[in-house]
Amino acid sequence: MSEQVIEPRIRGFISLTAHPEGCAANVREQVEVVRKAGITGHLGTVLVIGSSTGYGLASALVSCFGYGAQTLGVCFEKEPEESKPGTAGWYNLAEAHRLARLDGRTFETINGDAFSSEVKQQVVDALRRLGPADLVIYSLASPRRKDAAGTIWNSTLKPIGKPYTGKGFDLRNDAVTEASIEAANDEEIASTVKVMGGEDWADWVDLLLREGLLAQGARTVAYSYIGPELTAEIYRDGTIGHAKEHLEATGHALDARMGAAVDGDAWVSVNKAVVTQASAAIPAVPLYLSVLMKLMKERGTHEGPIEQVVRMFRDHTGPVATPTLDDKGRIRLDDLEMQPDLQAEIAGIWDGLTTENFRAQSDYEGYQRTFHQLFGFEVPGIDYAAPTEVNRPLV
Ligand code: NAD
Repeated sequence: MSEQVIEPRIRGFISLTAHPEGCAANVREQVEVVRKAGITGHLGTVLVIGSSTGYGLASALVSCFGYGAQTLGVCFEKEPEESKPGTAGWYNLAEAHRLARLDGRTFETINGDAFSSEVKQQVVDALRRLGPADLVIYSLASPRRKDAAGTIWNSTLKPIGKPYTGKGFDLRNDAVTEASIEAANDEEIASTVKVMGGEDWADWVDLLLREGLLAQGARTVAYSYIGPELTAEIYRDGTIGHAKEHLEATGHALDARMGAAVDGDAWVSVNKAVVTQASAAIPAVPLYLSVLMKLMKERGTHEGPIEQVVRMFRDHTGPVATPTLDDKGRIRLDDLEMQPDLQAEIAGIWDGLTTENFRAQSDYEGYQRTFHQLFGFEVPGIDYAAPTEVNRPLV
């Protein structure tokens, strides 16, 4: 037992602390969304790679609490040590494990580097025990990858071909800025593809196929993003977009291999922009998201990761769904974000955004609150003055 009062220490897009009970309350709320979604159908075993926060956590919760799947997650989180608190993802999973146990469901986690062969082997061993996977979700967002030869690759967020100058946002000072970012060199482009492209997803799928650990008719899904013209130079046409194109091309190759081997499928799902640790680090995205959130809330179309993933399973990848694909073979959960009239409205607001007016023109308050909630802060009903147990195990 180690109870402490945990204070927020947020620096720009990094939070140095996480509140265990706030994170637990977030997970309970997501599980409630799943329970109320009227889900029908059952999945046997689901593997989620990147299962502790954001889209991966939502995927694991929908699998376990919606489709009754034995859910195995892989993540890279800091475990609490004696009196030293762990990371938000750890506390999210501690609560997910607890809720699953209460319900007699199976939710297991392997905490370690998903790129490594050691962790891949641990997953193989776990699936031998649980049974072959019916669904594998690939939801890693990582700044770096150490490959099998020990080489470290770093992911960068840079434009390609020419420098980027455009709107930025300084989360430390809440200021709209003019950002200017040098174009990436070839090495940076290749390195970003190594980290966030499809190579590791393919390594996972090929390994599980070789080991006979994908069930007949199994499906695998990886997550991608496209986004608007406003962020294209820095996102879709930049280093990360290049990696996403590689991921999407990998999806087609995997689809053929999955089809031949187990009559299965591989898809990429293009999801909407949501507030996560990964998206906060992308220049201009927090500002774009703040405007997007205001307008989507006004239209009644606002969704977070859990609503997106409920919809993905229901309409596209769940056991009783057949996906609708775009002309490039992708699932489009970003359909509501990309509605042309909505995007035209955002574009009309964008150029006029300044440090003085952005709060009125956007839902920055909502963005900030959601960002702080990722780490368990500003969650309604939590007494932040009270000590909370930091030593929460994943059992
Ligand atoms: P996130 O930062 O919330 O989650 C990343 C997950 O990956 C965490 O569970 C983390 O523990 C895990 N992880 C990171 N490095 C790891 C490693 N080496 N080994 C094991 N686990 C590791 O990210 P997110 O925003 O949910 O993004 C997930 C995917 O969804 C990414 O592919 C991202 O591009 C995509 N996506 C995100 C958005 C968005 O707006 N956030 C939109 C569309 C698509």
